[in-house]
Amino acid sequence: MLKTELLRPDAGGIAAAAAHLQAAGTVAFPTETVYGLGADARSDAAVAGIFAAKDRPRFNPLIVHVADLDAMRVLVEIPPAATPFLPLLPGPLTLVLPRRAGAQISPLVTAGLESLAIRIPAHRLAQRLLTAFGGPLAAPSANPSGKVSATTAAHVMAGLNGRISAVVDGGACAVGLESTIIGFDEQGWLLLRPGGVPVEVLEAASGQPMRRPTGTKLAAPGQLASHYAPEALMRLNADAPEPDEAWLGFGPDPAAPSGVAINLSPKADLTEAAAALFAALRKVDTRAQAANLRRIAVAKIPQTGLGLAINDRLRRAAAPRDMPVTPRAS
Ligand code: AMP
Ligand code: MG
Repeated sequence: MLKTELLRPDAGGIAAAAAHLQAAGTVAFPTETVYGLGADARSDAAVAGIFAAKDRPRFNPLIVHVADLDAMRVLVEIPPAATPFLPLLPGPLTLVLPRRAGAQISPLVTAGLESLAIRIPAHRLAQRLLTAFGGPLAAPSANPSGKVSATTAAHVMAGLNGRISAVVDGGACAVGLESTIIGFDEQGWLLLRPGGVPVEVLEAASGQPMRRPTGTKLAAPGQLASHYAPEALMRLNADAPEPDEAWLGFGPDPAAPSGVAINLSPKADLTEAAAALFAALRKVDTRAQAANLRRIAVAKIPQTGLGLAINDRLRRAAAPRDMPVTPRAS
């Protein structure tokens, strides 16, 4: 059992966080997507600490976070085909790229793959921490494996207190959904995981439609069907809740006879709903438990823009638990 330090988002907090990281510790920090659980990506011991804290399966590779493009070029080859996406960085976009032969990255990060998933976070505190630490940070979401992602320091503490070195408290995350992951093959770019950058934005940037992986070759590995799982069962695309269901709404609410209802965005705004999603899932789950409701009915969310990523997370939250499937992107 570790004593998890709650650090303030100031110079002292960043210095303390960097010191933990330099000592191969694990530090949760805010990014624009969700809180990441960071560790020195070059150190086997540090990266092992992430897997242990989260109880994360070892076959599930991690995303590496760096401060800027120069730091990215040291670790991966950036092909000319990536040029249209570079103006979107820093931001909630992860690129899966060929790892440089000499790149100093623990093999635990890549789970044996030749490629590396890498991103440049836009959050001011994430940037300050990367600069203070001075190296690449492996950082998956800061929650126990398979559970709902954390968008506040309190969420991180609820899941990982006593299992990690520290948390930098930077308030709520602005985007609220994990990064979009893209990779490429001979025919071009593929959407490996929908996320904080809508696919329409990527398509506008490149002028090409984003393909979805069909085979297992370049699929994002380790994405389990059940993920983000609340305690209650979930029923998606519902028009209204049954009397024995809690309600997670989007747009105007129908009557909720159980009295347990939370709305992601009463004005049906996908950006607002994305930012609210994980906190709302936690809250509706807690309230459902308290009211002895075993199920949460969820309103239909449009499948455009950030709706793609929201629906992806909801489908995983609703999936039968403990059932690994072949990799898939959506
Ligand atoms: P997260 O759990 O948010 O840290 O996201 C990690 C996910 O990124 C993994 O589950 C994979 O789906 C994807 N990923 C990481 N590294 C690679 C890689 N080298 N190639 C393809 N996908 C990757
Ligand atoms: Mg995660």
